[in-house]
Amino acid sequence: MQISREGTAPKPLFGLDAAGLAEVMATAGEPAWRSRQLAEAMYRQRLTELDAITTFPKALRDKLSGEGFSIARPRIAQVFKSVDGTERYLVETSRGDTVETVWMPEGDGGEAGDGSEAGEAGPDSKSRSWDRATICVSSQVGCAVNCQFCLTAKLGLQRNLTAGEIAGQVISVLDRHTVELGRDRINLVFMGMGEPFLNYESFMGAVKLLVEETGLSSQRMTVSTSGIVPGIERFAQEPDAVRPKLAISLNAPNDEVRSEIMPVNRKWPIEAVVDAVRQVRLRPRERVTFEYVLLGGVTDRPQDAREVARLVRRTGLAAKVNLIAWNPGPGIPYQMPREGAVESFKNALAAEGITAYLRRPRGRDIYAACGQLKRTVEG
Ligand code: SAH
Ligand code: SF4
Repeated sequence: MQISREGTAPKPLFGLDAAGLAEVMATAGEPAWRSRQLAEAMYRQRLTELDAITTFPKALRDKLSGEGFSIARPRIAQVFKSVDGTERYLVETSRGDTVETVWMPEGDGGEAGDGSEAGEAGPDSKSRSWDRATICVSSQVGCAVNCQFCLTAKLGLQRNLTAGEIAGQVISVLDRHTVELGRDRINLVFMGMGEPFLNYESFMGAVKLLVEETGLSSQRMTVSTSGIVPGIERFAQEPDAVRPKLAISLNAPNDEVRSEIMPVNRKWPIEAVVDAVRQVRLRPRERVTFEYVLLGGVTDRPQDAREVARLVRRTGLAAKVNLIAWNPGPGIPYQMPREGAVESFKNALAAEGITAYLRRPRGRDIYAACGQLKRTVEG
């Protein structure tokens, strides 16, 4: 652990919410509005040094640093750039370990739900090649869920991230791309490493910081879960203002196949997951997403599509399906779907009246695509 000049333990401020910051400032004998300036500095202006907070008098900046306070946040330690514009980052926490965050300019065609391809840059974006982007955020270092097709599973669970470490990934990436939130359309997907609903407090803490302090909208956020029923039930109680959209990793047409590729299904089978999802009060026009990874020869056959369609219809939920061709990884014993299988699957679902989108694989060349996040340092 780092020791500050005066020998006191470092006191991180990044990650504290309004109440936490107010408490710190009250203890320091400062008025409450100082804590709002502090929040503004960290979460909107994206400053990383107390000394850069110009709304604070020099004496206050010095006093806080002298007491060991810091506004440092997780920092981008390494960048891998894909030919398709995707960037994968190793984000280093204050503990020195790293998690992965992905930047996908123009979105990935899945989260927007419109299946649109990358278009031309907008008219006002002369200096940049994107006018909207999606940030894929990690919630844990590794993952305990052990889905058989996922590279992150190979790490096992190393640890939970804190709310500050989750929100910090987003702030650092916004900063790197000098995003202007009023102008640029930013979507967040909590679909990086880890299972958000097995780190519920920190995940929701990060969402609240990003909504309440940074000014992102919960309607532009999607959280994906492998189907952790108690987590979904809690999530259903969250107010709309801080409730992202929900995606469920279905990945199989029935319990038998799902239990094989996702052992978590033995604990919470499909019907239990669907029952929990029914508790979520959807906004007007909001739909639940079922993600479906196509494993060649295992889940990508025409009869699988028909079974998925029946399953989705049976749920009675306002839902759509996002199809993801399985992305390969070393030591994972599956095959990519054969040429055309994803398209046929989509058409088969459409024929049964189920809306489905294809998620374009992004940044496969840099191991940034779904299920490929494993802190792969080789670019
Ligand atoms: N743990 C959460 C969120 C992260 S995984 C969850 O499982 O939902 C995000 C998505 O990537 C999930 O839908 C998962 O099924 C999918 N995925 C995992 N490994 C994959 C791979 N190798 N290829 C394609 N998609 C994969
Ligand atoms: Fe964990 Fe999601 Fe990978 Fe399953 S797919 S092991 S839940 S990260």
